[in-house]
Amino acid sequence: MTAAAMLAPLAEIAVADAVVFEQAQRSMALWPEWLAQLRDDSGEAVYHRRDGTIVVAHAPDRATLDQFKRVLHHKLPAEHRSRVQSLDGSALAQLEPALAGRFDGGLWLEGEGQLANDELMHALALAIDRLGGHWHECCAVDALDARGLHSAQGRCDADLVIDARGVGAKRDWPALRGVRGEVITVECNGVVLQRPVRLMHPRYQLYIAPRPQQRFVVGATELESEDDGPITLRSMLELGSALYSLHPAFGEARVVRTAAALRPTLDDHRPALVNADGVWRLNGLYRHGFLCAPALVEQLMGQSR
Ligand SMILES: Cc1cc2nc3c(=O)[nH]c(=O)nc-3n(C[C@H](O)[C@H](O)[C@H](O)COP(=O)(O)OP(=O)(O)OC[C@H]3O[C@@H](n4cnc5c(N)ncnc54)[C@H](O)[C@@H]3O)c2cc1C
Repeated sequence: MTAAAMLAPLAEIAVADAVVFEQAQRSMALWPEWLAQLRDDSGEAVYHRRDGTIVVAHAPDRATLDQFKRVLHHKLPAEHRSRVQSLDGSALAQLEPALAGRFDGGLWLEGEGQLANDELMHALALAIDRLGGHWHECCAVDALDARGLHSAQGRCDADLVIDARGVGAKRDWPALRGVRGEVITVECNGVVLQRPVRLMHPRYQLYIAPRPQQRFVVGATELESEDDGPITLRSMLELGSALYSLHPAFGEARVVRTAAALRPTLDDHRPALVNADGVWRLNGLYRHGFLCAPALVEQLMGQSR
């Protein structure tokens, strides 16, 4: 699954509405419980940090940072506004020494976090196995109904069917569209970041999310396209230049992975959970699959009982 798995309810309010914010808030409360239970069930700990996000802009782009702050203040419920804190150069340097002297200030979005999504998927697969479930990979479902599904392996009966095929469910849900996103993962020994950094730019917003073993996920492009082919040279250049502009030591970073995928999206850009003829359809998670998943699953469990 391709994503940066940032848990960024404050920053994302710039492109989301109050419904998504509520789901995100609930999920931020549930993630620690979920990950603790997953550690017990799978025996694996998933990398998860909640040290906030830093937002910076280069001097010529300072207006985009100011505007971003105004949008957050306008859209966030009053009780959450104090979580968006302005930093001067020395406060920024204290939080992220690697950025000292490179930016004259920024924002700190308190309480935001991130997960390692590859570790999460691995731990989920282990937990399903240990709990006696059967996990089928690379097995395309051709059709499904309230009593089960059909695949190349034949018919599989089920008590509960949940369709979470993302854009793959488009034939049954024509309003779905894919929004292309691309990320690169680099390995770099020359820079240490404690928390994700968003770099504001007049044309796009990019983020750099630190991961274990000196890896950094850099993302993400957002294109109105259902082409899920490999990353383009243009996107590589944009993501790479943003990274290099954050700190020149990233010039020596090794690119260890590139990825592109489609975000399953509905017209209102909100996740949707519906029951159609007995099949639960959970889709349209757009940019917020990791941010909102626990709240959506909680909702599904409540409604499907
Ligand atoms: C570059 C990028 C960066 C992102 N960053 C973030 C982030 O930082 N934070 C965040 O919260 N979200 C992020 N997202 C969004 C997040 O990844 C999505 O919201 C999430 O993946 C949606 O999950 P899903 O399971 O609904 O759909 P998908 O992730 O699309 O998964 C659907 C799965 O169903 C499978 N499938 C499709 N058709 C069939 C079929 N017929 N039979 C069997 N299987 C099928 C697909 O292969 C896929 O594995 C990002 C997305 C992208 C692309």
